[in-house]
Amino acid sequence: MKNLVTDTFETASGKKLEITFIVHASLKFRFGDRVIYVDPTSVLFDYSGCEKADFILYTHQHDDHFDLRALDELSTEDTTIVCTKTVAAAIPDRDDRDIEIMANGDSLNFRKGFSVEAVPAYNYLMREHFHPTGRDNGYILTFDGLKVYVSGDTEDVPAIHRLAGTGIDIAFLPVNQPFTMTVRQAVNAAKIIKPRIFYPYHYGQVEEVTDLAQLCADLEGSGIEVRLREMP
Ligand code: ZN
Ligand code: ZN
Repeated sequence: MKNLVTDTFETASGKKLEITFIVHASLKFRFGDRVIYVDPTSVLFDYSGCEKADFILYTHQHDDHFDLRALDELSTEDTTIVCTKTVAAAIPDRDDRDIEIMANGDSLNFRKGFSVEAVPAYNYLMREHFHPTGRDNGYILTFDGLKVYVSGDTEDVPAIHRLAGTGIDIAFLPVNQPFTMTVRQAVNAAKIIKPRIFYPYHYGQVEEVTDLAQLCADLEGSGIEVRLREMP
């Protein structure tokens, strides 16, 4: 099994947040006694034997973000699933599960210092069919004041520019075309949103090779720390 990397952060009041980089768009967070997965899918990673989820967040229903096998492997009857309407519709036994459907602009407070806000994620111009406006979510996860933006599959669209000045500490932005951002778009979005730390993610899985060296060079001197983790 792949050796997973984890980064650790401390909130202003000294609480610990761990982020584990699983693959592509799949992440795991540990905050206090809670384990939170974002976009786990068995299409790209074997979750059998992984620790169970207190929360699973899905940005949208594409199979590099969501599948039923990983959902079953990670969930218990106490797991809260946070997702879009489209993902909820794809879960057959949804009446037996704790599902919170979130639309763009919704927010939920899960107590113990953890809250989630859903923000828009979409393509525009000629690529709208991949991720149409209003269907999918990005999420801002707040852990005791520490704000982590996991964008989902989006381009550098006006709706995410509204995150400028909202104090995003850590941002995950996707860098693969034609489905998400070009390097140039990701650099532009990062410069507008201005996270303290920027993790490019969701690259690879397509023929085009994302030029991460160019991305790093373009953000040099911007005050944004780019951290490269293996997220193909
Ligand atoms: Zn997608
Ligand atoms: Zn994707």
